[in-house]
Amino acid sequence: MRVVIARERRAGERRVAATPETVAQLAALGLKMFIETGAGVQAGHADSAYVKAGATVVTQLAVGDLDVFCHVRPLAPGLAARLRRGAITIGLASPATELATVNALATAGVTSFALELVPRLSRAQAMDALTSQSLVAGYRAVLEAAIRFPRFFPLYMTAAGTIPPARALVLGAGVAGLQAIGTAKRLGARVSAYDVRPASADEVASMGATFVNLDLDAIEGAGGYARELSQDRAVRQRELLAPFVAAADVLITTAAIPGRPAPLLVTEEMVARMRPGSIVVDLAAESGGNVAGVIAGNDVLVPSTEGDGNVTLVGMKDAASALPTDASRLYAKNVANFLALMTQDGTVTPDFDDEVISGACLTHEGVVRHAPTAALLA
Ligand code: NAD
Repeated sequence: MRVVIARERRAGERRVAATPETVAQLAALGLKMFIETGAGVQAGHADSAYVKAGATVVTQLAVGDLDVFCHVRPLAPGLAARLRRGAITIGLASPATELATVNALATAGVTSFALELVPRLSRAQAMDALTSQSLVAGYRAVLEAAIRFPRFFPLYMTAAGTIPPARALVLGAGVAGLQAIGTAKRLGARVSAYDVRPASADEVASMGATFVNLDLDAIEGAGGYARELSQDRAVRQRELLAPFVAAADVLITTAAIPGRPAPLLVTEEMVARMRPGSIVVDLAAESGGNVAGVIAGNDVLVPSTEGDGNVTLVGMKDAASALPTDASRLYAKNVANFLALMTQDGTVTPDFDDEVISGACLTHEGVVRHAPTAALLA
């Protein structure tokens, strides 16, 4: 069967859905691999490396002709509509927001798999793109803060004087938050972190950070994910967080609730109460933001009420794409492992009795199979 990897179309996207290594892995399963010219260049892979791995480079995508289409970002609705009935797509699909594409995929009779929907079972960890890309984003968020921070992160005791360590606070201790903690620790900051899930306290401690206990009742929903807080409790949470935010030099926010806009954890007033020179990096900026006033892809300067100067509020955008080589290395492995699960003797046949495959399926035979997305489209 013919598997196509296209050049990503979205501005700012530098990742690719296959590397020469995964092309070789999939070609060994009997799949015929095609890559659009230049698809891997920004991730560090020339066309020639794919050819060496067994792919054919194409200059024009024959969209109506392919069997499997692997991608990073959601397809444009126009492209989805041109796929043939029964074609398979694998990639990030942002089902909650890209409804026009979901509609187009269903109407075209495409069997689409959204990697966001891969169930979080240990068996599926090697296909979990949310985890692999969050790891990259958490690391990157700390580097963005460190570059802008006018001070060191580590403690220095020198003949010319002592420099105290930066105090970093991480809000949301999922995959990205734990990576942010680890990166800030490695840079030498004194790190504390908070999450609404009590189970995260041990994980925070195991990364060497101090867990901030707000004495707010536990909020844990299905599958170990957080649930949305009621209005009252969200207000109380912000009140309780305010002194910890004010004491931080660097604040990294990563809080998310699957399928919902990001929760607001930090008000503009809380940002203004940070000392001049402090940095806030909001990793949730693209999904509404954890911090009021954030703009995805921009820095906003907020005048500090604690002295002359500003707090810099960084709205992270395309965080994983900022490290395209390693983000692609992990993402391409996730895609290849998912595709390999469905492949036998060069033929891709999804087995819908497998909970990983059925769980990740967004559309099949004209039907939107993911119930929350189907409800949004109804
Ligand atoms: P996520 O990206 O959905 O959210 C990030 C963090 O924000 C979560 O830890 C969440 O609890 C937190 N959060 C949400 N609302 C908040 C609020 N109001 N205040 C503070 N924090 C808030 O999370 P994730 O990184 O996808 O991880 C979610 C869960 O899935 C975790 O329990 C994680 O350990 C688990 N997980 C399991 C697997 C697996 O089994 N294969 C893989 C990855 C993650």
